[in-house]
Amino acid sequence: MRSLDLVSADPRVVVRNGAAIDPSGRCVLYRMRRAQRALDNPALETAIAASNLLAQPVVVFFGLLAHRPMANLRHYSFMLEGLAETARRLVERRIGFVFRICTGANSNREFGRFCTEVRPSLVVCDEDPTRRYAEWIREALLYPSAPLWSVDADVIVPSKLLEREQFAARTIRPRIQKRLKEFLKPVGNRSVRFAWKDDPGVKPPVVSPKLADRLHLDGSVSAASEFRGGTDAALAALRRFIRDRLSGYASGRSHPEIDATSQLSPYLHFGQIGPHTVALAIRDASAPAGDREAFLEEMIVRRELAVNFVRYNPRFKTLACSEPWARRTLDEHARDKRTHLYTERQLANAETHDPLWNAAQRQMATSGWMHGYLRMYWAKKILEWSPAADEAYDICVRLNDRYELDGRDPNGYAGIAWAIGGKHDRAWGPERSVYGKVRYMSSASSSRKFDSRAYIEKWSA
Ligand SMILES: Cc1cc2nc3c(=O)[nH]c(=O)nc-3n(C[C@H](O)[C@H](O)[C@H](O)COP(=O)(O)OP(=O)(O)OC[C@H]3O[C@@H](n4cnc5c(N)ncnc54)[C@H](O)[C@@H]3O)c2cc1C
Repeated sequence: MRSLDLVSADPRVVVRNGAAIDPSGRCVLYRMRRAQRALDNPALETAIAASNLLAQPVVVFFGLLAHRPMANLRHYSFMLEGLAETARRLVERRIGFVFRICTGANSNREFGRFCTEVRPSLVVCDEDPTRRYAEWIREALLYPSAPLWSVDADVIVPSKLLEREQFAARTIRPRIQKRLKEFLKPVGNRSVRFAWKDDPGVKPPVVSPKLADRLHLDGSVSAASEFRGGTDAALAALRRFIRDRLSGYASGRSHPEIDATSQLSPYLHFGQIGPHTVALAIRDASAPAGDREAFLEEMIVRRELAVNFVRYNPRFKTLACSEPWARRTLDEHARDKRTHLYTERQLANAETHDPLWNAAQRQMATSGWMHGYLRMYWAKKILEWSPAADEAYDICVRLNDRYELDGRDPNGYAGIAWAIGGKHDRAWGPERSVYGKVRYMSSASSSRKFDSRAYIEKWSA
C-alpha cells in the first residue's frame, strides 16, 4: 500500500521487520515502553496514521515487568501514576489499552501471546537507544507475520540520522541545529477513525498506583513524595517553570541552593512528557532569549548527545566506554594513595567526611532527585574515594539508578561517563592524584560558585 510506505518513510521510523501487512490482521498494535504518554507521542501517532489508512483500530500493549534491576517502589509508584492517566487518555481517544504484569526477565512472552490473540496487521514500538540489534531481531520474531516498526519518540532529531557516536557537544550541536527546523514541530494528535472495542468477555485493564503494593517491590527506597507521576503533573511542572524560573535560568541553574531548574527529568525519563512539548513551549515563552537558549541547549543538545552515546557505544554502563586518553591517565594513577576510602554502603548512607557531598547524597536518597551541578561533584568524589576507577564507575551507576527517579536513563550513563571517563570532555591540567588528567572538582571551588552552606543546611541529616 503506497500511502503506508509514506508513513514508514518518516525519518523517525526504523523498519525492523519488513514483512508485508498481514491481510487477515485486525488492528495496529503499539507496544509502549519508554514513551508512556497519550499526548505528543510520535510512535502512537505513527500507529494511528497507519490504522486510519488500514481502516483498523489501534490497541496499545504495556507489559509491566514485576522485577527490574535497580528499580524499586520509588520508580514503580511514579510510573504507575503516569500509566493510570495514560490509560484514561487513550480510552478517551478511542484507543485500546492492554496492561499485563509479566513475571519473567522481559515482557516478550506476554506480548507474543497478546499478538496471537489480537492478530495485528502492523506492530509499532517506541525506539529505545539502549537496545541492541539482536534484541530487535528477537522482537521481530515474536510475531513474524506482521511488519515491525520502531519510532523515535524520545528525541527531536531522529537518532539514526546522526549515524555514529559523536565526540562532544560541539560536534553534535551543528548537526542537530541543521535539522531542527525540520523536526521541531508540533507532533499533532490525530483523530482516531476506527475505535477499539474491548472484547466483552475480557475484563478491561485496571492500572492503579495501588498495584505497586501487590508487586513485592524493593520498598527500602520510598516513593518520591515531591513528585507526582503523569502527563498532567508534567505539564503543570512545565508551566510553573516557565512562569517562575525560566527567566534567570542561564545563571540560576548552577545554584543548587535555589532550585532554579525545571525538575522535568523524571517526566522526560518515563516519557510522560515528550521533548517536542517542552521545547516548543520554551521556544515560544516570553523569557529572555539567553535563558531560553541555555535551557534548549541542555534539553536538546546535551540530552540528545546522551541518547547518541548509549545508542552507538554498547559499553555505556562501564568504564570500558571511556575515552582512550582518560583510560590511560586513570591507569597511570591507579596506584595513587586515596586520602579517603568509603564502601558503597557508607556512600549510600551519606557517611563521608564531606558535608556538601553528604547533603547531595541525602537529597537524592530522600527526594529522588539531585541538582545537576551536584551530580557532577557527587560522581567525581566517588572516583576519588574508591580503590579503583572501574569500581567507582559501577558504584555510581548503581547508586544513581537506585535512588534517582530519573535513573536508568541515557543522561545518567552519559553523566557518569563524563565525570569519570572523560566522555564528551577533554584532558585537563595540571595532572592530579587519582584523577590524572580527568577534570577535577573540589568542594572549595563549588562553594565559591554557590551558597553551599544554605544547601547543606537544607539537606542536613
Ligand atoms: C553524574 C551524573 C549523573 C546524572 N544522572 C542523570 C540521570 O540519572 N537522569 C537524568 O535524566 N539526568 C542525569 N544527569 C544529567 C542532568 O544532571 C539532569 O538531567 C538534570 O540535572 C535534571 O534536572 P532538571 O530536569 O531540573 O534539568 P534542567 O536544567 O531543567 O534541564 C532540562 C532537561 O535537560 C536535560 N539535561 C539537563 N542537563 C543535562 C545533561 N548534563 N546531560 C543530558 N541532559 C541534560 C534533562 O533531560 C533535563 O530534564 C546526570 C548528570 C551527571 C553529571
